[in-house]
Order: sequence, then C-alpha cells, then structure tokens
Amino acid sequence: MKPGETPKIVRRVATKDKVVFMTFDDGAEKDPEFVKMTKDLKLPFTMFLTDDIARAGRGYGYFEQLKDGGNTIQNHTLSHPNLRTLPPAAQRHEICGQQDVLEKRFGARPPLFRPPYGNYNDATLAAAGSCGVKAVVLWEATMQINDMRYAEGDKLRPGDIVLAHFRGPQELKGTSMTKMVTNMLRSIQKQGYTVARLEDYV
Ligand SMILES: [Zn+2]
Repeated sequence: MKPGETPKIVRRVATKDKVVFMTFDDGAEKDPEFVKMTKDLKLPFTMFLTDDIARAGRGYGYFEQLKDGGNTIQNHTLSHPNLRTLPPAAQRHEICGQQDVLEKRFGARPPLFRPPYGNYNDATLAAAGSCGVKAVVLWEATMQINDMRYAEGDKLRPGDIVLAHFRGPQELKGTSMTKMVTNMLRSIQKQGYTVARLEDYV
C-alpha cells in the first residue's frame, strides 16, 4: 500500500457562520427536474456516488449535468458495503476502485469520501488515505421525506452537514426528489441558515 496521510474525519464543520451543507448520496434517482431546479436556484451541494448505483439507468452523464454548476462528485464506494465487515484489502478495493472510476470519468481524484451507513474503522481510514482521500465526511442531520432529523437537539446548528439521497417517488412514498429538496430548503431557511459549498469549508 502506498503511504498516504490519514484523512481527517468531518462530522460537522467548525464555523460560526449560519451555514449548512447539503449532501446527496448513492445516485439512484436521476430526475431531470432536479437538474433544472439546481441550476435555477444555483444550489451548492456535494454528491457522494456509489458506482453500482450511479451507473444504472442514465448513468454518470446525469451527474455530469449536476456538476456543471460547480458542484462536486465524491466517493461513496463501488458497491455500498458495510466497510466494517470487510478486511483491509476488500476495503481498499471498494474505496480506491471508486477513486479510479471517478478519476477516469471526471478527470480528478475526489478528495472527499463518505463510508456507507457512516461505518468505518482504522483500515477504512488507511485505505482512503492511500488513494488520495483528504477527508472522511459524515453528517449530523438527515433529511427524510418532509422533516429533518438531528443527531443532537431539535434544530440545525452552524456547520451542520445534512445527509439526503438521490431518491424518487418509489422511495419517497410518492414525493419527488425536487419536492423533498424544496422541503429541505424551506426548513433550512426557516431556521435562518443558508446553504454553502462544503468544499469551501473542509
Ligand atoms: Zn449510501
């Protein structure tokens, strides 16, 4: 294994600014309306894509459209396993394999990695560091269909990273991705926060 620096773990960004960060995971839903929405609103967000899931259907071309606004595509493994159950070599394959896929497709190795289910161990950090990951990004708030859930308390805090997914009506009980994101933005704004770009803070 090539030596690499151990990535830092970011659960929440240290800032006093009233900003939060939107992150979308996996890559199942590929709703054209969401592309239009993000362009119209110039929404900053970060995508953590799993190869198996993102590749299906319209594939990576869909995410390329979302990337056009300056949003970035980051690593969420090849096949979405619980990394804690895998030996080091298999973890390296899952993480570094997706670094290779994304580098080949988009021209750069992602600096950010999110382990599926937020599960990781020392071997995860070593593997990620060995293939160019600078930070492992977790979260403290989660967007459901209509409501936000918080790891602590009952409201957002400055620097919160909000986890959401590329999901559509099948997973959202009939709600579209754009409606879910509208609910998310409404909740963020109601609490007095604005959305910022994670890469500008990490
Ligand atoms: Zn995931």
